[in-house]
Amino acid sequence: MNEFELIARYFTKPAKGAILGVGDDCALFSSKKTIAASTDMLVEGVHFFPGEDPFLLGKKSLSVNLSDMAAMGAEPRWALLALSLPAAEESWLEGYSKGFMMQAENYAVDLIGGDTTRGPLVICVQIMGKIDAGLALRRDAARIGDEIWVSGNLGDAALGLYHLQGEIRLDGADLESCLKALRDPVPRVELGLALSGISRCAIDISDGFCADLSHILERSEVSAIVDYSSLPVSKTMEKYVNEPVGEKAILSGGDDYELCFTASEEKYSEIIELGNQLGIRLSRVGRITEGSGLHVLDEKGREKGTGEKGYAHFR
Ligand code: ADP
Ligand code: MG
Repeated sequence: MNEFELIARYFTKPAKGAILGVGDDCALFSSKKTIAASTDMLVEGVHFFPGEDPFLLGKKSLSVNLSDMAAMGAEPRWALLALSLPAAEESWLEGYSKGFMMQAENYAVDLIGGDTTRGPLVICVQIMGKIDAGLALRRDAARIGDEIWVSGNLGDAALGLYHLQGEIRLDGADLESCLKALRDPVPRVELGLALSGISRCAIDISDGFCADLSHILERSEVSAIVDYSSLPVSKTMEKYVNEPVGEKAILSGGDDYELCFTASEEKYSEIIELGNQLGIRLSRVGRITEGSGLHVLDEKGREKGTGEKGYAHFR
């Protein structure tokens, strides 16, 4: 199978919402709205272990990009896929493209182009979507007095990773749910879109709660106080909340792909209602204040070390 057969077989779908999709030198698409664009790369050995299930990898490689759209409040529409592959292995390509295309269909995204080369396994997805620029959920838009919210639960993906790395030992339903959180994160696209008009500021939690909230604080030039005991955790995580490994997972574990957003106090009941409507747990975890830095407090009001500041490729 040569490169062109490979593209034709696994990565060519009619692009409904584009003027021209896969097959020419460029794809063509247009929008009356502002375009939000983002790209995320997954590298074997850095972002995932060798031998991961290609179907889940295909799905996750789009999900992490969808998560960036969610964090901006954008409606995902188009994607480009650049693949570097050690070999054109049919079973891998079959699984990968199934996972990717299924998730693309779930979120009405058209794969409109990409690039395919031989090399180490690297997956690079670019995503583009529509947005009203004035309503974007920007990192620099937190205001003093805003309340801080988090969707879903924190740290389960990290527990799954710690298990695979041999740091802890999970089993049964705990293991299953944490590995699912790690390998098959749910991008909060619906929530991001629904937050338009409620929130002006959000980020997706990909590198760890403290690290990602700190990006908001820096860009918005504010400080925050977070109540550790109000951070949302799963039944599995409840067993670890007061242990160092649990704290580490909650505060600085990566790969959650939940949204952290801020909103003024008056939006409280609207947000609770939205959570009920979407069936997504939304938890109020702290407040934006004057000053700088992130302060996580325990039940006695003592400051917790936020420890490792999340995942960083270069230090
Ligand atoms: P070029 O020579 O201009 O780089 P290619 O031969 O690499 O073009 O690609 C041919 C067509 O297939 C282009 O439209 C390109 O966007 C598309 N394409 C290549 N690889 C992928 C991929 N992995 N997924 C989707 N489309 C792809
Ligand atoms: Mg090319």
